[in-house]
Amino acid sequence: MNLTTEQNNIRKEAAAWIDESVMPFSNIWEEKQELPREVIDAFAGRGYFGAALPKEWGGLGLDSISFGLLCGEIARGSVSLLSRLTVHNMASQAILRWGTPEQKARFLPTLATGEKLGAFALTEPEIGSDAVNIKTRISETGGGLLVDGVKQWTSMGDRADVFLVMGGLAEGTGAAAVLVERNTEGLSTEEMKNLLGFRAAGVSKVTLDKCRIPLDNLIGNLGGGFTYVASHALDHGRYCVGWGGVGVMDGCLQACVDYAANRKQFDQPLRGHQLIQEMLANMAMDYEAARALALQCAVQREEGDPNSIMSTAMAKYFSSRASLRVASDAVQIHGGNGCGDEYPVQRYFRDAKICEIIEGSSQMQQLMISRAVCMSRKRRKKERRK
Ligand SMILES: Cc1cc2nc3c(=O)[nH]c(=O)nc-3n(C[C@H](O)[C@H](O)[C@H](O)COP(=O)(O)OP(=O)(O)OC[C@H]3O[C@@H](n4cnc5c(N)ncnc54)[C@H](O)[C@@H]3O)c2cc1C
Repeated sequence: MNLTTEQNNIRKEAAAWIDESVMPFSNIWEEKQELPREVIDAFAGRGYFGAALPKEWGGLGLDSISFGLLCGEIARGSVSLLSRLTVHNMASQAILRWGTPEQKARFLPTLATGEKLGAFALTEPEIGSDAVNIKTRISETGGGLLVDGVKQWTSMGDRADVFLVMGGLAEGTGAAAVLVERNTEGLSTEEMKNLLGFRAAGVSKVTLDKCRIPLDNLIGNLGGGFTYVASHALDHGRYCVGWGGVGVMDGCLQACVDYAANRKQFDQPLRGHQLIQEMLANMAMDYEAARALALQCAVQREEGDPNSIMSTAMAKYFSSRASLRVASDAVQIHGGNGCGDEYPVQRYFRDAKICEIIEGSSQMQQLMISRAVCMSRKRRKKERRK
């Protein structure tokens, strides 16, 4: 697929910034387990927090392809940085799709510039994949809402100004999605340290101790929290993660081609050995296949094709698994050096594993994809006979 000049320019500009301002530092951020404020400010200054928001709200208004390419470049530099954009964008997109005009005017302009940062809080200590059974409760009280519960693994929890929180309503009445602002009484966060990867993503535990919020902070309807708001946000999250895997594979391939050209064993560069060539070939195939799938779903999203939801799940599933294979081979090609922090491949490897778990684990994607394929094949069989 040919990219337009504009799409190419967006990718090239992002790549140059990533090479200069992110790549040289991302191992250090992971080691220190924090992303410096200046980096967030520089990221915001480039408009990237509002990259997928329309210009009318102060965003860059990127099309899906450009936004995907941008996500890939960011992940090549730092998956932690991409994960911050991912959850910020999930909250922003939920407001854009399901917010009232007043809510859009209240939240989107500052989310677009990055003056305010967003997070997505669904997972809890006891509940992850089985999200409909979350324990956080949202109830109506004195003209407002009461939010009570504990969230865990909330990326950007260290810095977020506004949390999109999912909670269950009274028995049998579904769930709701609400915006809880940082300064709400009863909200506190605690960073989760020493994770396998995503160490600079500000992943936190978020306690919502009987937080009172105005009814105006309800996104969508009471009862529609999962069906509409969370599923929309998660679809955007998967899109970012799918492209993130493409970026990880891109980074791994580059690192391996460079390393295998310079490192000599048995009197020749590693790339001259056939078993290394086999790994490079498989890595390249995984990268190209994941990129093609991500581009296909980008086009479908641009066209408003309802199949894009399933394509996005497929792209996320394939890309996160493929990036783990690729990153594993990248460490292998680097040998002992692949296990140290002089090279980026060990970081890619750790982050790739996490991409298989977030925004619906690989198993959840398999369930979703297999259900959809059974239905679509049934339809296709009938149509073939017509
Ligand atoms: C670094 C990091 C960042 C994260 N950021 C966020 C965030 O910003 N916001 C947020 O809300 N969450 C976030 N998460 C949480 C993440 O989305 C969950 O970890 C994920 O949904 C899985 O939930 P769980 O960990 O509770 O695992 P569980 O649901 O307990 O599952 C454990 C294992 O069992 C498998 N499994 C579960 N049910 C089935 C089944 N029916 N069939 C087959 N296998 C099954 C799962 O695939 C998984 O492998 C983050 C997690 C990590 C590690």
